[in-house]
Amino acid sequence: MIRNGKFISGVVPPPERSGPAWWFAFQENRLLLYEESSGLKLPCLVDFGELGLTALSEHYLGRLDNRPCYAVEVTEGTNPPAGMTFEGLRQVYGRLDEDLFWIAARAVQIVDWGRTHQFCGRCGVPLNTKTTERAKECPQCGLLHFPRLAPAIIVLVEQGDKLLLARSRHFIPGMYSILAGFVEPGESLEEAVRREVKEEVGIELKDITYFGSQPWPFPHSLMVGFTATYGSGEISLNDDEIENAGWFEVDNLPRIPGKISISRKLIDWFIEKQGKGPDNTLEK
Ligand SMILES: [Zn+2]
Repeated sequence: MIRNGKFISGVVPPPERSGPAWWFAFQENRLLLYEESSGLKLPCLVDFGELGLTALSEHYLGRLDNRPCYAVEVTEGTNPPAGMTFEGLRQVYGRLDEDLFWIAARAVQIVDWGRTHQFCGRCGVPLNTKTTERAKECPQCGLLHFPRLAPAIIVLVEQGDKLLLARSRHFIPGMYSILAGFVEPGESLEEAVRREVKEEVGIELKDITYFGSQPWPFPHSLMVGFTATYGSGEISLNDDEIENAGWFEVDNLPRIPGKISISRKLIDWFIEKQGKGPDNTLEK
């Protein structure tokens, strides 16, 4: 599912900056981009300083088609240079080259980790950044701090020609999706799938099968997708989080998530399985 296949991750930057590099510059979680009629463009420069902005921190990310990629953080309140804009990543999907988008999804998490992990959680002293791996080390107690990832499961439950969709209270009006939830410590992914569906809609599953995974940088999840079939029980909403849930036929779907998400990929997989082909008339 990961789209940045041409990207090779790295931690050790090239010894000198000779050619142009991609600069993923973030102010909070918003990415610095050029606005052009053909779409959004990412700055490609030898040095970030050419833009006249100061980088608070810089992280080497690796190479895309042999071109170095860097993530930098820009001070809050700084105005973008002329012709440029800071944009939220979700709003950027589909308007920026897809390889660059998924590297940006990686970059925003590393910048956020750099910003929020400056001191040791055990002794409170400033951390040193390791040069050989993506980690920070406490100079006092040696504790290592790695970028944070929160694994979450997402599952498409099918029953014959219908799929289970639910509506969370925080969704935009009319939107439904498949069920998802964070994995708890000590739990396998399959156990998380079973528990989450039982907790949220009260039904039992069978045939839980791995589908694929996707990084989800809002803010630092790894979505692990599954399919499953209905086992037993009636839908009952036990969780305050879910305000409605039900079985839907693919000809009669409510509003569903956009194409950026693995939830939509799972729903499109089910639609295709019904011999309908993905419905491109639905919201992108
Ligand atoms: Zn420490």
